[in-house]
Amino acid sequence: MPDFAKMSLTELVRPEGFDCPCGRKHVCALDYLNVGRGILKELPQMLSAMKVSRPFVICDDNTYKAAGERVCALLDAAKIPHGLYIIPTQTDRLKPAEWEVGSVIMHLDPCCDVILGVGSGVVNDICKVVAHATGRKNAIVGTAPSMDGYASNSSSMEMNHVKVSLYNQAPSGILLDVDILSQAPMRMLWAGLGDMIAKYIAICEWRISRLVTGEYYCEDVANLMRTALSKVMDAAGGLPDRDPEAVQAVAEGLVLAGVDMAFAQISRPASGLEHYFSHMWEMMALERGEPYDLHGIQVGVGSLLTLNMYRDIRRIVPDPEKARAWWASMTPERWEAQVRAIFGKTAPEIIAMEAEKHKNDPAKHEERLARIIEHWDEILRIIDEELPAYDQVYAVMAKTGMPLMPRDIGISVEDTVNAFIGARDVRDKYMSCTLLWDLGLTEEYAEKLKKFVS
Ligand SMILES: [Zn+2]
Ligand SMILES: [Zn+2]
Repeated sequence: MPDFAKMSLTELVRPEGFDCPCGRKHVCALDYLNVGRGILKELPQMLSAMKVSRPFVICDDNTYKAAGERVCALLDAAKIPHGLYIIPTQTDRLKPAEWEVGSVIMHLDPCCDVILGVGSGVVNDICKVVAHATGRKNAIVGTAPSMDGYASNSSSMEMNHVKVSLYNQAPSGILLDVDILSQAPMRMLWAGLGDMIAKYIAICEWRISRLVTGEYYCEDVANLMRTALSKVMDAAGGLPDRDPEAVQAVAEGLVLAGVDMAFAQISRPASGLEHYFSHMWEMMALERGEPYDLHGIQVGVGSLLTLNMYRDIRRIVPDPEKARAWWASMTPERWEAQVRAIFGKTAPEIIAMEAEKHKNDPAKHEERLARIIEHWDEILRIIDEELPAYDQVYAVMAKTGMPLMPRDIGISVEDTVNAFIGARDVRDKYMSCTLLWDLGLTEEYAEKLKKFVS
């Protein structure tokens, strides 16, 4: 078994994948993937590797200026016929929603055989949906290293004003020209760093879940993420100056996170509780019809909150009697009232999910509690092995000038505490907030969090 962490991007995305001792076959089959300086000119090569000949270029006003114009000029120079549609931005930022997808479909030239997105998160997500719906391949020329979805097969969309993950198709070609990425708005560079810092917690919580719930885990997949992340942290100091090496490290890390998720077939290598702070804040904003910040910016803030929480988790001595007493007090009626208060319009969905998954089943709680107590020393060791000191991460983030605390991005103390309490109910995924719930410490930690962010 070759060491993923030592392989090149091209080797990692080989079509035949890798048979792994973990029992899974790790595949992320891309026809073309490159990250580097001045590589936009490889666009014709990427299209021929994908065996397509007529791209339909999709961008928005900003990404047209950032790279779309040059993409079209390159295609013209190479005599590659192509279509172009610039999605109008209805508010201050392009939305990943029905109107935008519909407007692309209405302008699509049916003679084109590939959707070529020029942009980052939102354009990429829209293109995945359109490519899937129209049965075409999809390629992307990135304009910002702002999120880890470039190589992923899901898009984060708004449907009926609710945030959803749609599983459609991963792009077959990805070109990230560092000279273009480094000119992205600074907030987008910060967002990329935020989405990478999350990986410390993601890997830590994945390992804890394996112990407590017996969830699948692969050390080779985890290690690929660790290696990419340590390169990002070493280079992060150069981000404020748009240093190409720093931008390259972040861009590669983000692409590798997508590859790693495809390898694992789950989001575990890339997302933990910090992502659920972001999901919760987005849900709250959508419910109120308010704008929300970039995914990676929210995730960066969520990462600091979670790292701070782990400082306290390290000091816990599990007390089964306390856990049982708190659980007894959290009756189904009380839990449901709490869900309704936090989730509003989405509450019925959350309540229906519990009826299917039975996370709150007392018998299952006893099983998890027994495993937590049995493995507590090992859980503490995992935390020590995987998580850097809070102050160290805080210092790296602060030096770049990026937002650090919820208040820096306009999020209230109440929404922060509610995000922590509700995170456990969004999906059936074992995270630190679930661990605290199992130990009967949710309310205690909600209080600590409140003090921390006040
Ligand atoms: Zn494996
Ligand atoms: Zn993310």
